[in-house]
Amino acid sequence: MQKIKYIMLHHSAVSHEKNADQFVANNNYHKAQWNFKSSMGYYLGYNYEIAKSGLVRQARRDGEQTAACYQKNMNNGQCVHICLDGNFDIEKPAPEQIYALRDLVKKLVRTYGVIKGNIIFHSAYAPKTCPGKNIDINFVRGLVDQK
Ligand SMILES: [Zn+2]
Repeated sequence: MQKIKYIMLHHSAVSHEKNADQFVANNNYHKAQWNFKSSMGYYLGYNYEIAKSGLVRQARRDGEQTAACYQKNMNNGQCVHICLDGNFDIEKPAPEQIYALRDLVKKLVRTYGVIKGNIIFHSAYAPKTCPGKNIDINFVRGLVDQK
């Protein structure tokens, strides 16, 4: 297990209209892509996925190897990867997703002492828009200060 220093945000890039709860679909998709099973028995490349309803599911333990970002050793366990279902290049996260994200990020920050500047977007590390142009990094970092 690595010491956790980062929290990275992703989107699934599949719209809420197509599928509001994508955990099973993405788990199957990543199984077909990498067949990389987690200690929890899942194939999803991220640690957590948040459905449109705000339901949070964990697929990999914090500190476990991931298949989420291939740059800068971000898959070696030092980064907890959170994927929000949706395509935030064309839509916005549901309020329930934001509340769930806030609670999860606050818990991770409290548990591992991640500094606010190390809450990051995939797009800062890879040539992608992930997690979409309709989410702002300063907004996400600000969630940590909310009650
Ligand atoms: Zn991503």
